[in-house]
Amino acid sequence: MVFFQWFIAQIPNVYSVVDIEGRVVASFGYQEWIYLSLSLLLSVIYFCFLGITSPSKNYGTVWRYDDQHNWPGDRCREGGKRQSPIDIKTTDVIKDFNSLFIKYGNLKFVGYKKVLLSAINNGLTIQFTTDGDETIHPTITGGPLKHNYRLEQMHFHWISEHSLNGIKFPMEIHFVHVQSDLSVDEALMKRDGLAIIAVFCEVQADLDDYENTPVDEIIEHLPNLTSTGDRMSGILLDISKLLSPKNNNYFTYAGSLTSPECNEVVIWIIYQYPIRISDTQYRQFSKISAGRHNFRSQQRLSQHVVFTPPSNHVNKPHLVMFFENVVNLVADFFRNVTTYMKKELRSR
Ligand SMILES: [Zn+2]
Repeated sequence: MVFFQWFIAQIPNVYSVVDIEGRVVASFGYQEWIYLSLSLLLSVIYFCFLGITSPSKNYGTVWRYDDQHNWPGDRCREGGKRQSPIDIKTTDVIKDFNSLFIKYGNLKFVGYKKVLLSAINNGLTIQFTTDGDETIHPTITGGPLKHNYRLEQMHFHWISEHSLNGIKFPMEIHFVHVQSDLSVDEALMKRDGLAIIAVFCEVQADLDDYENTPVDEIIEHLPNLTSTGDRMSGILLDISKLLSPKNNNYFTYAGSLTSPECNEVVIWIIYQYPIRISDTQYRQFSKISAGRHNFRSQQRLSQHVVFTPPSNHVNKPHLVMFFENVVNLVADFFRNVTTYMKKELRSR
């Protein structure tokens, strides 16, 4: 660099600006031209390099699912107290008889039948965002939600992020809601700023292609969204079909976003029963250029407590049922032995 500066200094200036009395007030020559050209060249190289890794190429994202250790945000890298996603062990779920977490009755959905959306393939998932005035967006309240929350967007993870008793599903749909009286930025600062409904999908191989499934309307649009950056607008969807019909069979806990910056601001509502999609429909998603494994790895349990409404009949895992049966058998055996012995004693 020193040599380069010395070299340039040897080149004489060729153009000088003089005032009316002939005094040189500014000079502009080869040195400046070389500096200018070099700066321009470096800028071009810099922006070309940025172009490869910049958000503009990745549609607002500077992170990848295959590089989770380097996600932006301390919470993502160092963890926190309520990071998501997690494995839900149904034996550890608390039936909320005392309304410790589920304080506001049944979940109430308003306006999910006809929703105006636009869609994008953002390189990480297919995302449908609600269009139009915020006041006409679908809303949810009740259950664990103290406030009204408006639907902001929905997107897909394949395979699922959460799991039930260690078992993942082929797909998980997230319906991201923001507290109605807050902007997105404000909601990201509040411990219950967002409410995300999660619906699992199971692939049913024996489902015929002509049978209707809840994702039919979405699948129709997928061929137009196969490449990163593909967009559509003016889509009208009946989202209520995607929500599980068993409204009160859900698990809920206070968690975090599963993408940067992993803010601990989410009340999760995860439906216990999956919706069905066909094999052909599932394969449509694999044709999409977005990452094939677009899920965050599961997080260490810390202060997570998962609740379910008291009316929910929670399926117990097979292993737990096996041990319960063994305990019952042993208990029955001893009960029978005791009864037999009592009878024997009485008959003597
Ligand atoms: Zn998600």
